[in-house]
Amino acid sequence: MTVQETHRHATGAEPAMAACPIMPTYGPPTVQFLRGEGAYLWDREDKKYVDFLSGLAVTSLGHAHPAVAEAIAAQANRLLHVSNLYATEHNAHVATEIDRLVGDGTPAGGQVFFCNSGAEANEAALKLARRFGGHGRHQVVCALDSFHGRTLATLAATGQPAKWETFQPLPEGFKHVVWNDLAELEKSLDETTAAIFLEPVQGEGGVNPATVEYFQGVRALCDERGMLMMVDEVQTGLGRTGRWFGFQHFDVQPDVITLAKALGNGMPIGACWAKADVAAAFQPGDHATTYGGQPMATSAARAVLETMQAIDAPALARSAGDTIRTAFSALPQVGEIRGLGLLLAVELNGVNAQVAAARCLEEGLVLNGVTPTALRLAPPLVITDNHVKEAVAILGPILDELST
Ligand SMILES: *Cc1c(COP(=O)(O)O)cnc(C)c1O
Repeated sequence: MTVQETHRHATGAEPAMAACPIMPTYGPPTVQFLRGEGAYLWDREDKKYVDFLSGLAVTSLGHAHPAVAEAIAAQANRLLHVSNLYATEHNAHVATEIDRLVGDGTPAGGQVFFCNSGAEANEAALKLARRFGGHGRHQVVCALDSFHGRTLATLAATGQPAKWETFQPLPEGFKHVVWNDLAELEKSLDETTAAIFLEPVQGEGGVNPATVEYFQGVRALCDERGMLMMVDEVQTGLGRTGRWFGFQHFDVQPDVITLAKALGNGMPIGACWAKADVAAAFQPGDHATTYGGQPMATSAARAVLETMQAIDAPALARSAGDTIRTAFSALPQVGEIRGLGLLLAVELNGVNAQVAAARCLEEGLVLNGVTPTALRLAPPLVITDNHVKEAVAILGPILDELST
């Protein structure tokens, strides 16, 4: 099949159409999933897959979680939209819960802006940094190999020059420094720096955790110079790393935090949390969104946060992460395993990770190649030892096959 034909086949486009009706921003899809339950997915041919990717660290509670599905269905039957000119049923509750988790169980004293995605949460953080810094103090320092989104400003924040090239000129006001190098970061700062913006574990950049010294050093620099420490928790947030937020591994308190992916368990929602004195820089009219915080999204988030706390999601991520490390490191082609909790990269010796991921998909295991040499695992936080056994039973023979 040609690329166009594969694309058409997997998307279910009308065979009579000359071209697929979907823009080619992604490569051709290989399967179409029709339903899911927990850690399992089924495709159009009713073939079953075990999901070790969760979208991309999105469906942390597993697919079709009953509490989330019921909350969404009930809200769909009650009220979908009234605009942000009026108060919305779940907003204050969800914001209060997020604030409490930011404080690891006690209120952190912040406020929340709701939006619809990770990039939008980061846009809010970047605008807040400029508003807080004031004119002339607008630079944001980010890390190389970071990922912050695909809008123009979040692309400019993203530390991957190859992704910038075709979209120049990008919004200005961003500097990039080598990851985990505090001395270099310090050298990049001047009186125009408003904020330092980092992921606790670089997700798209290859699952690279920050060091404790780095995050503590960043906090100290921000305190010294009155800059904001902003942390992108879009991929790491809500239990995935084994703590509610990735920054909690490093014993620091950021000024601004963004989250999205796991917050809706698949319902689009993002949030930007900021300390109240930082949030106060925003005045009515400074920032807005039509859909942000609409009741269906926040009803899903409310069910997610309730369920995650009831099952102690961070503890599940810690123990399942240990199980995966033990099981996967027994495979002869597996080298280093890095990451935190259930956000892991598995280095492969002598096997191309993208090829391995494609073969896994054919055999019913969903994961991805985050670099040419490393697989990324981000399974639902609710996986059991059996799911791990199933994954290893699929991956093991594929690695044998590809390394001979
Ligand atoms: C996925 C991701 C984003 C972008 O989120 P979208 O919802 O795709 O806009 C931003 N930052 C990080 C760390 C991410 O992993």
